[in-house]
Amino acid sequence: MKTSLLSILVPVYNEEKCLTLFYERVLGAVDKIHCEVEFLFINDGSIDNTLFLIKQLQLLDNRVCYLDLSRNYGKEIAVTAGINYIKGDTLVIIDVDLQDPPELIPQMLKEIQNGYDDVYACRLKRSGESWLKKWTAKQYYKYMKILSNIPVLENTGDYRMFSKKAIDALRELQESERNMKGLFSFIGFNKKAIYYNRDQRIAGQTKWDYFKLTNLAIKGFTSFSIIPLRIVSFFGVLISIIAFIYSVIVIIKACVWGDPVAGYPSMMCVILFIGGINLLALGVIGEYLGIIYNETKKRPTYFVKEYVSLLKLVNTN
Ligand code: UDP
Ligand code: MG
Repeated sequence: MKTSLLSILVPVYNEEKCLTLFYERVLGAVDKIHCEVEFLFINDGSIDNTLFLIKQLQLLDNRVCYLDLSRNYGKEIAVTAGINYIKGDTLVIIDVDLQDPPELIPQMLKEIQNGYDDVYACRLKRSGESWLKKWTAKQYYKYMKILSNIPVLENTGDYRMFSKKAIDALRELQESERNMKGLFSFIGFNKKAIYYNRDQRIAGQTKWDYFKLTNLAIKGFTSFSIIPLRIVSFFGVLISIIAFIYSVIVIIKACVWGDPVAGYPSMMCVILFIGGINLLALGVIGEYLGIIYNETKKRPTYFVKEYVSLLKLVNTN
């Protein structure tokens, strides 16, 4: 199979420090491959000079295209938008901060040409990340594996390359609550891992704080599994059985020995425990209700301010 156009999809949000360095290093990496290349930068509502720098690059190189979103939507949506706009029949998604070495691109492309549809880069080492981030990531993967009904790939980010088949499948996923890692697993197809060591960011700062990461994790759990709802139902049944047995004991005791008023501490414990479980159950149901609410509004996932592509396609067949 021959690839005619490779689209390099790069979501960017306030990345003026990384942009030029990234472009130069990717150029070095894709020099060796024998196919056309398109850079598609998704400007995710940057408020620094990022867009200006992209425009400058475009003046020098007409393979540089950009999609300017109407505001900051977050990386997941930026990637979704990019997938809808790329022109290539092969796609690689890569962060602009050079944590993921672009030098892997030729190797990934070789695997696509060998017939794989989703070649993903799997991290051996995560440099520059705190132990807390590594630990929480590990826990997330652990529970995601237990709870979700899709195969979960550990230590795999969004740095991956897709064939035409996989790109078409990704375009068909219409949900507005998006967890891309989950969706990449969901589509299936022939997957192949490539192992690498993740570097530190070359410049700038990560855009993820623990609040955003927790949100992403909850989205991951709730979009790919209804098992949290089952766990809550299971607790409900279990507590009802215990409550029934205990009530029988209380009634028998009252009939046989009378009913002296006692047991304030045990009563409080039971009320608080049941109250807690009730709130938890409501919270879990609320999460799913929230997703249904968002999906039923059927709002467009993003709005585009501008899409500029100067790329002239000679032959894409
Ligand atoms: N990013 C984005 N929108 C956002 C946050 C991040 O497009 O709201 C981009 C960012 O510019 C970078 C990539 O997503 O190219 C990964 O972001 P970051 O390095 O902050 O994430 P981390 O590597 O820490 O997971
Ligand atoms: Mg990063």
